[in-house]
Amino acid sequence: MSHFSFIEDPRQDPKKLDVEERREAFKEIYQSFDLGSAQLQADRCLHCGNPYCEWKCPVHNYIPNWLQLIVENRLEEAASLSHQTNTLPEICGRICPQDRLCEGACTLNDGFGAVTIGNLERFVTEEALARGWQPQMPDILPNGKRVAVVGAGPAGLGCADILNRAGTEVVVFDRYPAVGGLLTFGIPSFKLEKAVVARRANLLQEMGIRFQLDTEVGRDISLGKLLEDFDAVFLGMGTYTAKTGDFPGEKLPGVLKALSYLIANTRHLMQLPDPTLPYVSLSGKRVVVLGGGDTAMDCLRTAIRQGARQVTCVYRRDEENMPGSRREVANAREEGVHFLFNRQPVEVVGDAASGAQGVRLVETRLGEPDARGRRHPEIIPGSEQVLDADVVIIAFGFDPSPAPWFAEHHITTDSRGRISTNAQFQTGNPRIFAGGDMRRGSDLVVTAVDEGRRAAQGILDYLGV
Ligand code: FAD
Ligand code: SF4
Repeated sequence: MSHFSFIEDPRQDPKKLDVEERREAFKEIYQSFDLGSAQLQADRCLHCGNPYCEWKCPVHNYIPNWLQLIVENRLEEAASLSHQTNTLPEICGRICPQDRLCEGACTLNDGFGAVTIGNLERFVTEEALARGWQPQMPDILPNGKRVAVVGAGPAGLGCADILNRAGTEVVVFDRYPAVGGLLTFGIPSFKLEKAVVARRANLLQEMGIRFQLDTEVGRDISLGKLLEDFDAVFLGMGTYTAKTGDFPGEKLPGVLKALSYLIANTRHLMQLPDPTLPYVSLSGKRVVVLGGGDTAMDCLRTAIRQGARQVTCVYRRDEENMPGSRREVANAREEGVHFLFNRQPVEVVGDAASGAQGVRLVETRLGEPDARGRRHPEIIPGSEQVLDADVVIIAFGFDPSPAPWFAEHHITTDSRGRISTNAQFQTGNPRIFAGGDMRRGSDLVVTAVDEGRRAAQGILDYLGV
């Protein structure tokens, strides 16, 4: 293998399913690399000596080191190394927005095409598990401490992993019937199949973590009881208050909240229906999704798979300024989503009897950058139009959902409802720690994993073990 293989062997992404199949199936669209293509792609790494990719990766994966192990076909060692820094490597490898993180920082991204880091991270764990490798739990002695983790999403799992590896007894509580948080119930299967999350949950269980599901803290068990039974508590409860647009017509029949629509669809596919979240099929409908982030892309692509007649994304800035992953925008476009940029909704048109019939839009242009460099859309006068729709999905993001029981335990929040902690992730109550979306606001799987893992270190330091 040569030092210039990045020129001889261009960047290659793994094959995607055929678009026609994608438009009908709730299956992951990316296939896995085989060993030969993984080695070829891993060998493109320059080992540039200044691994910006590692710095940009929120969990600081040892990327060039495991790329070299792939080249040498030492996949079990690569998997062990990758598990030192990441609790969910095969999951982050699939759904991190790599173009904004590790791959965006790759030296080769400047003209040659970044190393396909995400897909190689996925390949390492998949292939090592297929060869019979298991995450090792070296001979760790119990440290005599017990910690309760509230929330089995990426933050809770990251925290439980580190605590467990340090010999702490960990019980993870979740109100849902399966482990994973938004990995299971929010992110659709065409990005992340549920069997992948279930397999990781089993691995964590085999390593000693206990899960108590269908248990909502604050309803089925109180935080006070957890504080009696455990030495410390970690909260990783996510953000679940849907942002609204504050325009007329948002409450009309036929206007859906993005996450409720996605959760109900996934639970329907998993045959785990929730009577409080009825499944909605958009077969044959004209669907307009308002918003331009990952959640909007997931709604658009779910609607396509349900057989919607026409699916349109309306976003108030231009394509360059979309917050979601570019890869997912491209995938949505390939699958038949139509995009309308620089349009702002001002009303959902319709009435209570017939429901939503369309969205009144105005055109926007981007104004001058504000102090943070973000350009806000300005309305172009006289540009109003109505876009016909049978169903409108609001995907404007999420705000935190502080629990009513926070105050009695001295847990405080900031002006945006995010839980406040010190640098060790400790809340106003020294025995209660928090991290993930509920602390930083809606973000990413990998940043939630990172916060959970760092909070676990904070807990271990506090407990003196
Ligand atoms: P969550 O994943 O929300 O987990 C919180 C858990 O806490 C849940 O299981 C919940 O049931 C539980 N819980 C809450 N309250 C209680 C209680 N009182 N008692 C017991 N349990 C409780 N990120 C990416 O990196 N890539 C993507 O492609 C991507 N796509 C996304 C698509 C959608 C539709 C959405 C909504 C988000 C997406 N994200 C994506 C963001 C990512 O999923 C989140 O940032 C991440 O899951 C946050 O992890 P968390 O552990 O903080 O919270
Ligand atoms: Fe890249 Fe995410 Fe993996 Fe880090 S965790 S190397 S950012 S794919």
